[in-house]
This record gives sequence, C-alpha cells and structure tokens, in this order.
Amino acid sequence: MSATTTETSVSTTASATAARPEHQSRAQATLAIHSGQEPDPITGAVVTPIYMTSTFKQDGVGGLRHGYDYSRSVNPTRDAFDTQLAAVEGARYALTFSSGLAAIDVLLRATLKPGDAILLGDDVYGGTYRLLAKVFVPWGVRVDVVDVTDTAAVSAALSQRRYAVIWVETPSNPMLRITDIRATAAIAHAHGTRVVVDNTFASPVLQHPLEDGADAVVYSTTKYIGGHSDVVGGAVLLSDEATRDEVAFLQNAAGAVPSPFDSWLDIRGLKTLALRVQRHSENALAIAQWLEGHTDVEHVWYPGLTSHPGHEIAARQMHGGFGGMISVQLRGGAAVAKAVAGATELFTLAESLGGVESLIEHPAAMTHSSVAGTALQVPDNLLRLSVGIEGVDDLIADLEQAFARARVA
Ligand code: PLP
Repeated sequence: MSATTTETSVSTTASATAARPEHQSRAQATLAIHSGQEPDPITGAVVTPIYMTSTFKQDGVGGLRHGYDYSRSVNPTRDAFDTQLAAVEGARYALTFSSGLAAIDVLLRATLKPGDAILLGDDVYGGTYRLLAKVFVPWGVRVDVVDVTDTAAVSAALSQRRYAVIWVETPSNPMLRITDIRATAAIAHAHGTRVVVDNTFASPVLQHPLEDGADAVVYSTTKYIGGHSDVVGGAVLLSDEATRDEVAFLQNAAGAVPSPFDSWLDIRGLKTLALRVQRHSENALAIAQWLEGHTDVEHVWYPGLTSHPGHEIAARQMHGGFGGMISVQLRGGAAVAKAVAGATELFTLAESLGGVESLIEHPAAMTHSSVAGTALQVPDNLLRLSVGIEGVDDLIADLEQAFARARVA
C-alpha cells in the first residue's frame, strides 16, 4: 500500500467521523443509539456488522469503495464507533485506539515535540504518569506536576514557563479530586497552553469538557464506555481539524488501532452508557454516604458528598450524577485496607473500573504502584471502589462483612 493511498483514505474517514450538525439537537441518548448506526445497506442488519477484514478489494488500482483500503487506516466498524462517540461527546472528531494509553500516547506524540513542556495534575492514573516519566521525559519533553485543582497554582506555573499542554483528570484517579475545567481553560488559553481532559471517570454522560473549553478529551473506553470489562480501548475527541489530522496521521503511521470486534463491543457499550452511569452514580452516592458514617473509615473521597472539597464545582460541572468511583481511607492502615480488599465477595479484587460489576483495589500496591516515591504517591490506607450496578443493599452488606472480617483478622 502506498503512502499516498493511506493518506487519501485517512482523510476520507475524516469526513465520515465528523458529527453531522443537523443531528446535534437530538438527545445524547438518541445519538448514542443512532449515530453511525444506520442499518446495513445490503442486508438491513440493524446492528453494525463486525467487519473482520484486514483489507478491501479495490475496483482497479486506487478504486476504493467508500475510501476503505486497509484496516489499520480505516475499518467500517471502527468508523461506526468513531461517529457514534463523536456525536455523544458533541465533538467534530473521534479517533479510537487499541487502549486508553495508546490514545494518550498518540495525542501527545502528535502534538508535542522534544523541548516542549507539559503540566500534569498531581493525581492521575499511574500509567499516564509512567508513560510521561519513562517515555516522554527521555524523549526530551519536560514534565512538571501541579495541584491542578488550585487555579492560583496553575496560574503561577503557567506564568513561569511556557507549557504546550496542561493535563487534567477530573474526577482524578484515584483521589477523586475535582478541577474546574472552565476556569483552568481560561487561564491556560491566556498563556497559549492547550487543555487536555481525561474524562474516563465521568464519561461523556456526566461531563462535557469540550463545551467547558478543553481542547481535547481522552478516554479509556475500557471503562464506562465499554462498560462490561470485556474490551480494552481508548479514544481522542476533539473539534480542531488540524490537530485531528496530526493525530490521525500518527495513529495510522504507528498503528495502535482497535480490532473491529473491540469497536463492536464499544458500540454496544456506548448505547447503554446513560442508563448504566445513572445507576452507577446512584449506587455510589448511597455507598459513599454509608461509608462516611462508618467507624472504621478515616475519610471518604466522593465528589457527590457535600464534605468533598470539590463538591460545588462538581455539582456545576457534572450533569446528572457524580459517577461510580469512590476512594476511602481506613483507620486501620494499609494492612486493614488490604484485608478488606481480600474479604469482599461481591466486590471483586481487580484493577480497572467502569464495568457493571463492582471492583475493589488497593491503588498503592496495584494501579498506582508506579507513582510510589513521586509527587503523585497515594496513601497506603486507601481503597478504590468501582461501584457496579448491582443491588446497592447487597453491596453495602458485602462491605460491612468485609470490614468485620478485616477487624477480626
Ligand atoms: N485514564 C484513566 C483515568 C485510567 O484509569 C486508565 C486505566 O485505568 C487509563 C487512562 C488507561 O487506559 P487503558 O488501560 O485502556 O490503556
């Protein structure tokens, strides 16, 4: 396949994935089910087929059917997901990847160069920090860490140095800190700095960073968008065409694309996202309130609690709930936290989040072990809960019995 052919097909996809403005007035739930999901023109299949093909027949050299030539560059199932996700986000473009980290890597490599600097929130997914510290820093990109929830600190940092990008997770992983996206974007843009929001915890149902001024949004679609703990994927959402083209070029050049089956699972997940997130949020709020009154608990971090320092911002910035993630610090310390994580029956001890089933993990030893000894280190008495959509009374009973067993042990 010639480079020219690849570039041609990538730009064809650009027009295919741009959300059609005439449909943007529809409800997000409608867009999730119908955008990019037209019945198959040949068979009438209501569900987008899994186009499990690496390559496409050409009608004479360069005679591509609808721009399809090779599945690293373009694939109809991936296109269907890109179109659906762009519409749900209200972005012009979605580009989907083989993992959340692949999406982050390609977005940053496409938009940064050696000598640039990035300002990173001081509470982010450990893998994001590892990618920056172990891959981007040796490549020549400077990484500085700031409490991104503190707009005065952000302002001071941006006044001292030119940063190409400020990286925001809100709610952050794992401390559930809340950053005011609108205020951060205003400060950043005044300094010519782009704002990227990792919106994985909130999902496009609860939070719309592009509307609030962010320049790009990333997702691990492995989490709420896939929603069933059966697919690893990622996405970059943006509306600026030039940046989209740079990201699309590197995605094709480097090749971290999802399989058609991955895209199909993400399409199915996204259709029910709004319903699931509503239930995740209701369950999590009830559990957070219960945890707050528990004698074994030192502190609960959940943005839906009025005691949370970012509650007012979250109430304004998140729409219809505060999500399914809770972090909780236990009075008994690391040993008790680990004992609780090992004693739950419905909460499965596992990394990841956002699936229908509840998960529990010990960030210091699991998802965030790579930030030990850095400014992002997390407390070792911390447990992170990904609250599923089971019956909430059963989940509370499970935590209660786990606390009791950990106390005895
Ligand atoms: N962003 C956040 C907030 C995450 O929690 C994760 C993974 O846990 C990622 C990005 C990376 O996603 P993936 O595991 O799909 O590469």
